[in-house]
Amino acid sequence: MAKYDYDLFVIGAGSGGVRAARLAALSGAKVMVAEEHRVGGTCVIRGCVPKKLMVYASEFSHSFETARGFGWTIDNPRFDWPRFLAEKDKEIARLSGIYVRNLENAGAELVHGKARLIDAHTVEVEGHDRVTAGKILIATGGRPWMPKALKGVEHAISSNEAFHLTELPKRIVIAGGGYIAVEFACIFNGLGVETHLVHRGPNILRGFDDDIRTHVTEEMGRRGVRVILSTQHDAIEKTATGLVSRFTGGHHCESDVVMFALGREPCTDDLGLDAAGVKLDEKGAVVVDEFSRSSVKNIWAVGDVTNRINLTPVAIREGHAFADTEFNDKPTSFDHEMVASAVFSQPPVGTVGLSEADARHKYGKIDIYMTRLRPMKTAFAGEDERCLMKLVVDAESQKVVGCHVVGPDSAEMIQMAAIALKMGVTKQQWDSTCAVHPTLAEELVTLREKYLPPGLGQAA
Ligand code: FAD
Repeated sequence: MAKYDYDLFVIGAGSGGVRAARLAALSGAKVMVAEEHRVGGTCVIRGCVPKKLMVYASEFSHSFETARGFGWTIDNPRFDWPRFLAEKDKEIARLSGIYVRNLENAGAELVHGKARLIDAHTVEVEGHDRVTAGKILIATGGRPWMPKALKGVEHAISSNEAFHLTELPKRIVIAGGGYIAVEFACIFNGLGVETHLVHRGPNILRGFDDDIRTHVTEEMGRRGVRVILSTQHDAIEKTATGLVSRFTGGHHCESDVVMFALGREPCTDDLGLDAAGVKLDEKGAVVVDEFSRSSVKNIWAVGDVTNRINLTPVAIREGHAFADTEFNDKPTSFDHEMVASAVFSQPPVGTVGLSEADARHKYGKIDIYMTRLRPMKTAFAGEDERCLMKLVVDAESQKVVGCHVVGPDSAEMIQMAAIALKMGVTKQQWDSTCAVHPTLAEELVTLREKYLPPGLGQAA
């Protein structure tokens, strides 16, 4: 008789958990997965997918403007928020169903309810009998962090609720400077909502290249988002006409909705991890090694709950590597270097590798290649939009160690650039690539002159 009820118990049916559970089950292991909300996790239910659909919806207003410059007459276009939400929810339900079917087809058992560890091998799912498992995978993801002590915080929403607002607000205040805050600010602005983005730091998108941060702030401003920096909420008050956000420094602003996107925290509380002896870091994330193994030898963790790189493809690859290592006899650790990412702001950002500041810190001497240009499409339409392209090169090895783009299709471009950077491309190899014309991307392979800060002039 088997020593445990299951070979693997996965807590959380999101990006990382589902991939690991499915592959383990396909290898012949007996697998159970617990999910307390909806199968698919943050990405499918209240993250990447619904967010991208909202981005698409909101981009049309700008496209209509551009279309006018190309001779189109567009009379009184209107947006139907409830209709969009209904369609969006249908799509999310469809995708969640695919995740459920994929798990079932692989032979994994799905159980609905909140799971917690009783000890290192025993799991209890609310409303179900306790079960034991040889291996346990924590894939519980993260949740929005809310400033619980703030006066009036109960009037604010997080990104979770932003996907289900019954009415499209006329005015919104979004607090935060990370990519989620920036993306939602652009979404609501594109949908015609008067949008304030309020961030306590001196610039948005901390961790990104400084030129990118400044450029996005300027472009968002050009499109109508009011970006207010170096201040934060002191309180929120409900009045007869809306919500008043009171900021440090004495300013205030009235809106219909206040949304906080101030960061996310790993879902590790009330999971029984202490009972099992699993070590957490100071932010509550599960501490793991390069094979995603926790401090307890039969317990692993993947995805946002480990707070490494909190992106869907990373959670998937970590889950995949875990299953390969533990159930397919193929020891694999996911390489967290050169992971490309995008900010679906308007205009969007695509980025891979090091920022100029990080590269300077790491390599000392670096070469910068940078251009700002007006894309053909919007320039023709009479718009003043600028695109930014920047390459960061290690001066000694001449390897391209960072590539950053702000502009149309940059999220698509960066996926291809990431292949080259991951392979260790040198600037010379990069330059030997022939351009595709006429495209915006061709500018990336024709950056020849080293960029020197204003005042120093261009290198010969
Ligand atoms: P999750 O997908 O969060 O899954 C964890 C699951 O565990 C959840 O379903 C949860 O309900 C369940 N769970 C938690 N505790 C328990 C418990 N005790 N018992 C049972 N079940 C439990 N990433 C990108 O790559 N690109 C993007 O464009 C992007 N946009 C985003 C936009 C937003 C608004 C947000 C919030 C995130 C976005 N992300 C994006 C990040 C991405 O969604 C996450 O990195 C990814 O979902 C992490 O996957 P995961 O498997 O670690 O966790």
